[in-house]
Amino acid sequence: MNDLAMALYRFAAVSALTFFGATSYGVLSGPVFYGDAPDDHHPWAVHDRNRPQPKIVTPGTFSSPDQAGKPPSDAIVLFDGSDLSQWESAGRNGGPAKWLVKDGYMEVTKTGDIRTKEKFGDCQLHVEWAAPAKVQGDSQGRGNSGIFLMGRVEIQVLDVYNNPTYADGGAGSVYGVHPPMANALRPPGEFQVYDIVFRRPVYKDGQVLDPGYVTVFVNGVLAQDHAVLEGGTGHMGRSKPGPFPEKGPLQLQDHGNPTRFRNIWYRELPPRAVEGGTDGWLSVEATMTKRKAIASDIRKDAEALKDSSNSLPYMLRLMESLVYEKDESAYSQVIQMAEQYVTNLKNLPVDNLKTKKDEVLNVNGAFKYMIRFKIFPDSFAPSTGLDQIIKAQGWDKRR
Ligand code: MG
Repeated sequence: MNDLAMALYRFAAVSALTFFGATSYGVLSGPVFYGDAPDDHHPWAVHDRNRPQPKIVTPGTFSSPDQAGKPPSDAIVLFDGSDLSQWESAGRNGGPAKWLVKDGYMEVTKTGDIRTKEKFGDCQLHVEWAAPAKVQGDSQGRGNSGIFLMGRVEIQVLDVYNNPTYADGGAGSVYGVHPPMANALRPPGEFQVYDIVFRRPVYKDGQVLDPGYVTVFVNGVLAQDHAVLEGGTGHMGRSKPGPFPEKGPLQLQDHGNPTRFRNIWYRELPPRAVEGGTDGWLSVEATMTKRKAIASDIRKDAEALKDSSNSLPYMLRLMESLVYEKDESAYSQVIQMAEQYVTNLKNLPVDNLKTKKDEVLNVNGAFKYMIRFKIFPDSFAPSTGLDQIIKAQGWDKRR
């Protein structure tokens, strides 16, 4: 750790100590931030401790040939092998789904497509399916079914194990658009595992912001790599890009073959930057909106640190908010407190001052960060004041 990083580690630790309470001091083992500051397209600093933590998910278990695995803890289960209560007929009149449920799977019964009652958009989707063990038919006539994302984009289900068909209609294809990059099917009768990441197209005022993408793993082998969507899929017709609704049902195809499904679940995905998400490359406008919100939250945190006997934690936390937004009121308060801090130091008896070595070096490190990222001017008087104290005490020599 260089001096600056060390100083900012302390800078952060001081605020963390007071804000989270002494008992959680050890929880934060690094600085709130010490990397490059927020900019026009990134609302957070590099390694920013104010950035929200990822949610905790307990992973599931993998399936075996005989046994479906367990979904991750935040999965929304659409079919767990017991019933079709979450499904309905996709026919014009709707009504209950009429597929067979047996021994932990559902099976196509020539009663038409079925779809989820629930509607959703972007997702990580897990589906397992098995073509009939008894091989019948060929090409598109063998173990044909399909998984229609939002009821519109078919990821093909087909027994292509020793069964050639047109490339853009194989198992794991985006039907009629993208052939799978590999044919990784197991023999018919065995369950095949699809893991799909789906991002719907996003349009605004008729303009495409994101065409939408799909990634598909077939039995753990990559079949679609962030393949760009060209709108809904269909038989023989060329797909046409266009806007999708926000949500749609997941639909499974009845193509007349008794294909089985089990262990169907999905996880919701956080929004992309183009639809209001705050990770990724944001527009200047979205970045500034988010930076304002972060600054406002930190200013609120700072309020809780106000202490008439020690203004330092409040000053540091409030100063931190300026990294995101140069709020005039916060800025002038920080300047005033910083000047007062230096004045107080200068008035301390020498013996008392000596006990403040680490603190002074750390506060000055924080000032230097603010200067480095142009939040404070190069000629920031309190920093100059601290430089003088540090030099006079010889504290610059041993570091
Ligand atoms: Mg199909």
